[in-house]
Amino acid sequence: MIDLHSHTTASDGSYSPSELVQAATGIRLDALAITDHDNFDGYNQALPHARDAGLNLICGIELSTKLQEPNRKTVHLLGYFLGGSAAPAFLNWLEGLQASRRDRNLRLAARLQSFGFDIRIEEVETLGRKMAGRPHFARLMVQKGYCATTREAFDRYLDESAAAYVDRDEPSFSEGVQRIRDGGGISSLAHPVRLGKRDYAEEEQLIASMCDSGLQAIEVFHSDHKATDADRYLSIARKYGLKITGGSDFHGDNKPNVKLGCGGNGNLEIPTSLLDELAR
Ligand code: AMP
Ligand code: ZN
Ligand code: FE
Ligand code: FE
Repeated sequence: MIDLHSHTTASDGSYSPSELVQAATGIRLDALAITDHDNFDGYNQALPHARDAGLNLICGIELSTKLQEPNRKTVHLLGYFLGGSAAPAFLNWLEGLQASRRDRNLRLAARLQSFGFDIRIEEVETLGRKMAGRPHFARLMVQKGYCATTREAFDRYLDESAAAYVDRDEPSFSEGVQRIRDGGGISSLAHPVRLGKRDYAEEEQLIASMCDSGLQAIEVFHSDHKATDADRYLSIARKYGLKITGGSDFHGDNKPNVKLGCGGNGNLEIPTSLLDELAR
């Protein structure tokens, strides 16, 4: 059994890299990919622990990308670097993404201040470090009594449709795919069910257009996928020649319903053979 989608404290997970390695070893995973958002710090820190524990640790990442008009939806894209690291050009590009996130956070803090909230960038970055983002803004809004829950903070201020939203420069989906490929990685569409297409013909059309952009794989198995979803994505993978990936999207205590390796309510058991096929 393997798990190709997990997060550490280097992004929005609650397990430190070494704790995650320990958890993976504890449930006897044959391989674990760390796919933190926009950075490899968690993977790099976990690597020596994985070596000590004899765990096959895979270098991964999860990028937020934007679809072209008329969708303009944010789509998560996974990248797997089976050689253990991405090319330097990819790392440089990531640094640019981190800089644009920081710039957005500065503008978001200013905007919240204009609403009369005392929210400072230093406080946000203490919580979220390199990956500071809207969830950390939400937590501060609750801590300071401006909102009752983080849900309310998103609904009223931080969601794309809410009052204080400021846009972040996200790379286009096709740029994400290209950068991953050029960096020596394999790109995989994360949790396709979150594309939110109820019309399955429309969903397939969208995924087909992603294949035209060079997409190589699709996350067939995921905590959010019902068996019928996984079946649908499996047949799409076969039809379009996409490789198959799968993972729990484990975030530790930040998403308590999702268990490492097993997903939500044990809906996952991802065969180790997927990894061999990915490497082919
Ligand atoms: P950021 O990358 O800083 O723009 O923050 C994006 C993250 O905020 C996502 O990965 C979600 O975890 C969270 N998020 C975005 N929209 C919502 C929402 N409406 N409700 C709760 N969390 C959200
Ligand atoms: Zn996450
Ligand atoms: Fe995601
Ligand atoms: Fe994820």
